[in-house]
Amino acid sequence: MNNDRIGARLRSALGHAFGAETVIAGEAGYDDARRVWNGAVDRHPAMVAFCRTSSEVAAAVLAAREVGVPLSVRGGGHQVAGLSVCDNGLTIDLSTMCAVSVDGGISHAGGGSLLRHVDTANAQAGVVVPAGVVSHTGLGGLALGGGFGWTFRNFGLTCDNIVGAEVVTADGRIVQAGEQDDADLLWALRGGGGNFGVVTRFDLGNHPLRDVLFGQAVFAVDDLPRGVEHYVRTMATIPDAMSSICITRLAPPIPGLPPEVVGRPVVMIDAVWSGDIDAGEEPMRRLVGDGKPLTTRITRMPYTAVQTMQDDLHPHGRGNYNKSRYLTTVDDTAIKALREAGNTVPGPHSQIEILRLGGAAGRIDPNATAFAHRDAAYILNIVGAWTDNIVADAHIAWVRDTYKAFDPVGSDAGYINFLDAEPDRAHSVYPEPTYARLREIKRRLDPDSVFRGNVPITV
Ligand code: FAD
Repeated sequence: MNNDRIGARLRSALGHAFGAETVIAGEAGYDDARRVWNGAVDRHPAMVAFCRTSSEVAAAVLAAREVGVPLSVRGGGHQVAGLSVCDNGLTIDLSTMCAVSVDGGISHAGGGSLLRHVDTANAQAGVVVPAGVVSHTGLGGLALGGGFGWTFRNFGLTCDNIVGAEVVTADGRIVQAGEQDDADLLWALRGGGGNFGVVTRFDLGNHPLRDVLFGQAVFAVDDLPRGVEHYVRTMATIPDAMSSICITRLAPPIPGLPPEVVGRPVVMIDAVWSGDIDAGEEPMRRLVGDGKPLTTRITRMPYTAVQTMQDDLHPHGRGNYNKSRYLTTVDDTAIKALREAGNTVPGPHSQIEILRLGGAAGRIDPNATAFAHRDAAYILNIVGAWTDNIVADAHIAWVRDTYKAFDPVGSDAGYINFLDAEPDRAHSVYPEPTYARLREIKRRLDPDSVFRGNVPITV
């Protein structure tokens, strides 16, 4: 069946009473409706349905099943391989379901909220929900896969803070997940990806926080070993209130950086202290002031400011390709690989990220949530990003070569939200007991595999 016929059949299955806006192939707005964050993605759904309520989501799920076509669910559209949009099927878009309210220690967020919706509503109440570092990212995909950001070592991952949810299941029911409702489903939503239904409302535990300390250090690539060793050594003993990232890339124009360094390979440490500000000054100085960086800065700022400071570095529309894995250690081999990658980085938007894990997120029992790799020491994320498709192959080759260079210290296991389209890695994303339990829940709630998630759980 071609897209025209599928679109017409979906319209008929939805019926006249279906109030949500729908766009099918060939209609005005179709190309905008199928777009995702990654400009290299070019999928052609038969229909995009902009659902506004859980009942509309349920009707859309049932229509896709009736017509017998693939179904995908789009929150913020940031999954790098564009898996939230399907070819020749129905894409449920949740972008209008983005209302957020704060009720004491719980923030309720619509399933299509972006992080900026959550952060803005929380800021009014002086609280935060730990999440990612770019505010145009969707809460849905991020929270269901894990959620690392500026506060995970202090307050846990985003998924650790899901305390309840409203979910539309594969048979069109609208159910609640929670410790008192369906605790197994709640467990699965904490890291199991979009495999169990459409989350139309997240209930998220929040934490009092208004201002943070932001710190940044920049080292020239010739000093990369010193900079990275300093990062590794210092983060090993720093309090949990510090979350940080070590980035190797071509230097963007940063205040205080000598102009001759801009555009040259550098290593940057970016860090946020989310505890008591006075208590954070000494550890922040230790992390970004010591080790003889080229420049260093430490600034107090509102949490919402730190959450948006990277937005323009990762805009919609560029081509992107990522590869990611956990690292057991960052030793001389890793440093050699980083230096080589830094010296061959193919463009100003590509970068290698290393995150020191642990803290509060690392202390959670690996069986307590579907996100199970609690003892991983580091995440390696290699980001290839380009504005001109002519250089796409060079970026992709650099990402793959760099990934391989980390083989001696790299695990096959990876963080689901940084993977490309890599369904074969399901068994490394989830250790065997976790996968077995996810499978049981999948068999109960979605025996026909209507929802595929980034990394599908097979029944
Ligand atoms: P989408 O592409 O919309 O969805 C991805 C998948 O999630 C869908 O296929 C679907 O299976 C599922 N899904 C989404 N919403 C729902 C829902 N409501 N109900 C059911 N299933 C749903 N990750 C981090 O951990 N920390 C970061 O700091 C971070 N920063 C990022 C910055 C950028 C610029 C980008 C592109 C990605 C970043 N990521 C980060 C990765 C991010 O977590 C994933 O890309 C995630 O998939 C984004 O969620 P989304 O809703 O935008 O994705």
